[in-house]
Amino acid sequence: MFYTAFYELFLNSGICKFGQIRGKFGAKHAWQIRAVIARRFCAEAIHVKQNSCARYLTSIPIPAMMLSESNRSPEVYLDYNITRSKRRTISLFVLDGKVEVRAPYRVSKSEIDKFVHSKTDWIKKQLDKSAELLTKRENFSLTYGDELPYRGVLRPIICGNDRRASFAGGCFSVPPDLTPPQIKAACVKIYRQLAKEDICEKVRYFASWMGVSPAVVKINGAKSRWGSCSAQGNLNFSWRLLMADDSVIDYVVVHELAHLKELNHSVQFWAIVERTIPDCRERKRRLRELQKKLAGEDWD
Ligand SMILES: [Zn+2]
Repeated sequence: MFYTAFYELFLNSGICKFGQIRGKFGAKHAWQIRAVIARRFCAEAIHVKQNSCARYLTSIPIPAMMLSESNRSPEVYLDYNITRSKRRTISLFVLDGKVEVRAPYRVSKSEIDKFVHSKTDWIKKQLDKSAELLTKRENFSLTYGDELPYRGVLRPIICGNDRRASFAGGCFSVPPDLTPPQIKAACVKIYRQLAKEDICEKVRYFASWMGVSPAVVKINGAKSRWGSCSAQGNLNFSWRLLMADDSVIDYVVVHELAHLKELNHSVQFWAIVERTIPDCRERKRRLRELQKKLAGEDWD
């Protein structure tokens, strides 16, 4: 009965010809499906197969008492995604204003709903934090005189005489009369240039120390991955890493170089990292702090 209603709904709305939506199509139209479900139902939703995980897009009503006065309406739902996998426990994430539940295959939908309900208070707090971060990101802007971290030290953005952006005299020197977005783009250019020089130099130093040799070293603009290592032995580092202090940059360089010996995060891998950086866990923690700070800055 429920599914029949679903099929009709999707046929009528022109979203899809079938009730069950699979693969890329499901992923592409996820938000439309979500919106329809949130408006019309509060039960198990559509089964979207994606890679090896089964994803369910779902929605449950949240208690009116949890909402602020202006939001009190019986039609308000708490939307969340469920990603099923071989994992053993249920966990909850709030990322960019979206709630995601990761759950084992065997746990029923009603158990997951109950779990989510029990965490409504926490979810609401996280959603508020997420909204705050989003506002912060939207308001992020740079101007002459602002300071930016370079290898852990704050350096000013100055108005240079040159038409070319460069790192001069310990400052981010950018051309005059630029708009805030242009200043940001100029600073990213400087960071990229510096990253090419500084990170490659660190790679050379630690590679010979550790007895490894990477095939290629590249700098990219990755937001959430500080570094990566491919099976072919190519290393990539994000220019954003240059905002961290030297000891943290060294840790990431050593981490990726260690992958040339162990392409995993096994005990053996961590032993290799610790041999070169004994306090690697502390440095990793500081990297997470930088990640948190950068979550409130829009560098794109
Ligand atoms: Zn790794």
